[in-house]
Amino acid sequence: MTPQRESVMAAVTQLVHATPDQVADAVPGVDLTTVYRTLETLEHIGLLAHTHLGHGAPSYRLAADDHVHVVCHRCSSVIDAPAGLADQLSRQLAEERGFILDRSHFTVFGTCADCAAGSSHD
Ligand SMILES: [Zn+2]
Ligand SMILES: [Zn+2]
Ligand SMILES: [Zn+2]
Repeated sequence: MTPQRESVMAAVTQLVHATPDQVADAVPGVDLTTVYRTLETLEHIGLLAHTHLGHGAPSYRLAADDHVHVVCHRCSSVIDAPAGLADQLSRQLAEERGFILDRSHFTVFGTCADCAAGSSHD
């Protein structure tokens, strides 16, 4: 593992969910293009996985950290839900349509309890 890969891994580990921009900020001296390339390589060799927590850039995390992401589209808070939450959806899609769900790539959007209750969130 190169020092660059090691610092990118360390940044993602620390940030839990990290966009390429956030990783670049956390790894001084490595340009964004290199960060993108390194993230792709680390995903390709199975150390990282990405999901989409909003409309912008993908968020990378450790591939071993298997869970379903639930995101509030009002306040953008991210809830890490157990991977098993998607089991029934996954099973039903497979049975009825032969579709294989990539649950690590899968984010559920909605409104969190605080926002639904109308609190101002600050
Ligand atoms: Zn994607
Ligand atoms: Zn919310
Ligand atoms: Zn997560």
